[in-house]
Order: sequence, then structure tokens, then C-alpha cells
Amino acid sequence: AKADGRGTYRFFETGMDARAQARRLLERDLRLALEHDEFEVYYQPIRDVAGGQVVAFEALARWNHSLRGLIAPNNFIPVAEETGLIVPLGEIVLRKACADAAGWPEAVAVAVNLSPVQFKNPNLVSSVKAALQASGLSPDRLELEITESVLLQNSEATLAVLHELRGFGVRISLDDFGTGYSSLSYLRSFPFDKIKIDRSFVTDLATREDSMAIVRAVTGLGKSLGIVTTAEGVETDTQFDLLRQEGCTQAQGYLFSPPRPAADVAKMLRRAPER
Ligand code: C2E
Ligand code: CA
Ligand code: CA
Ligand code: CA
Repeated sequence: AKADGRGTYRFFETGMDARAQARRLLERDLRLALEHDEFEVYYQPIRDVAGGQVVAFEALARWNHSLRGLIAPNNFIPVAEETGLIVPLGEIVLRKACADAAGWPEAVAVAVNLSPVQFKNPNLVSSVKAALQASGLSPDRLELEITESVLLQNSEATLAVLHELRGFGVRISLDDFGTGYSSLSYLRSFPFDKIKIDRSFVTDLATREDSMAIVRAVTGLGKSLGIVTTAEGVETDTQFDLLRQEGCTQAQGYLFSPPRPAADVAKMLRRAPER
């Protein structure tokens, strides 16, 4: 593999050996990057649909590579998960996110993504506690985002961990809702605080009636179950208006802001919605 100008690893060779070698190179680079503290956390605002105010920021990992510049998570999270490096990486993101959020207004929460692999780590709960303690962040200002794939693996142990986390005040969101196989049944297996409606449904909101019907169903479900709904990937005024009309609770997307460095949080809080 070779890094191209945009900092992505291009798999231009074919065959298993080339792929395996590319993976090993990336794994080695990831280890070095952890040692050299090359990971940053970017933040994307999540707004209350009715009031317009920023209610949370989602923490999104970025690899600030010394030579290749900023690398997006899709280029390294999969290999980090395969190699187990997502455990130390996830802990770095969690610690930085809690530390940053402790400096924000009290009404603003931080949402951190958790990989299924992190649930195999017996220290997950204690590392969340440690991040909260070190930062002084109140647990009710931390939201942990999981996908239903987390619940597919060893679900009893996973549910126990989720209940323990929730037991000390952390909120749990179901991410990428609607993209998996049996999302609805997961809503019965755990009392989620939030459902994040996947971007794929929001994108086609104005042009596809089936997407509209699905968003309507999920927001209705949220209302009857008392679960907050957040629409992901909101890019246009039309999408936002439709979401407001359906009573979706929160919205996140380029319409408001892309993810930005921690230093830009104050600016993102100040700026009125661009509508
Ligand atoms: P996600 O959790 O679904 O995060 C939302 C992704 O959608 C982010 O991509 C965000 O930049 C992008 N996005 C937000 N608004 C819009 C929009 O209006 N239009 C479009 N086209 N995209 C939008 P990003 O930052 O590249 O992250 C990709 C994925 O990588 C995340 O998807 C998440 O699954 C994973 N990820 C990122 N950071 C972490 C992390 O710290 N830990 C773990 N385990 N996974 C992470
Ligand atoms: Ca997420
Ligand atoms: Ca998502
Ligand atoms: Ca996603």
C-alpha cells in the first residue's frame, strides 16, 4: 500500500499478500501514532430541533499524521479494531473528549463512539469512570454511542456493562439506527436514551417517500418510547424542515457544521443556526 496525497492508504496491488502487507504497515504506523500522540478529537455540534441551541458535540477521531496530514477514521478504525489497537485509541478519545467537555457550558454534553471491540475489554467500565474522574465531567454529560453490532456479540455480558454504565449516570445512544438487521428488537433489550437515525435515511428525505416514512416511524417510535431521536447527516434546509415537522428531537450535520477541532467549539456554540 502507498499513501496518496489525501492521506489514505491506496491498495493498488492485488492479492492477499499485498493486502496483508498493507495491513501490517498500517498497524505499525498506528502503534507509532499512539506512541507519538498523533490522534486528535474533532467535534460536531448536535442541535435541538425546536430550540436551535447546541445540546451536544459528537467526538470524532482524526489521525494527524506527521507526513500525510489529517486522516479520517474510515481509513484506520477498521484496522484498529482488527488489531485491538482500538482499545488504547478509544481510551485516548474518551479521555480527551471528557477533558474538553468539562470546559464547556453545563448544558452541553459530549457523545463518544464505542467500538464493539472495546466491549471485549474487561476494563471498559473502569476506564470510563477514570476518564470522568480525571476530567471532573459529570456522568450525565457523557453519551456513549454504540451500534447494534455491539449487542450481537456476547449480549448478556454486553448488557451488563451497559447497565453498569447507565447505573452511574452515563447515557447510551443507539447509533446508525435502521442500517442493521433487527434494530427494533434491540430497543426492547436495553433502555436506550437516544436513537440516532442513520444518514442514509436523512439524505433521501425530500426525494424518497420510503425514507420519509421510515423517519416518520422512527421519530414516532421515539416519542412513544420516550427516547430522544437525533437525525444524522442533515445537509439541507428542506431536510431540516421535514425533520422538524416530524418532531425529531435533535439534528446533526453539515447544515450546521462539519466536525472541527476543540479550539473551534466556542465559535460553534456562538454561531446561530444558518437558516
Ligand atoms: P458515525 O459515528 O456515524 O459519525 C458520523 C459521521 O458522519 C462522521 O464521519 C461525520 O463527519 C459524518 N457526517 C456528519 N454530518 C454529515 C453530513 O451532513 N454529511 C455527510 N456526508 N457526513 C456527515 P467521520 O468523522 O469520518 O467518522 C466516520 C465513522 O468513524 C463514525 O461514524 C464512527 O463510526 C467512526 N468513528 C469516528 N471516531 C471514532 C472513535 O473515536 N471511536 C470509534 N470506535 N469509532 C469512531
Ligand atoms: Ca456516532
Ligand atoms: Ca452514526
Ligand atoms: Ca455511520
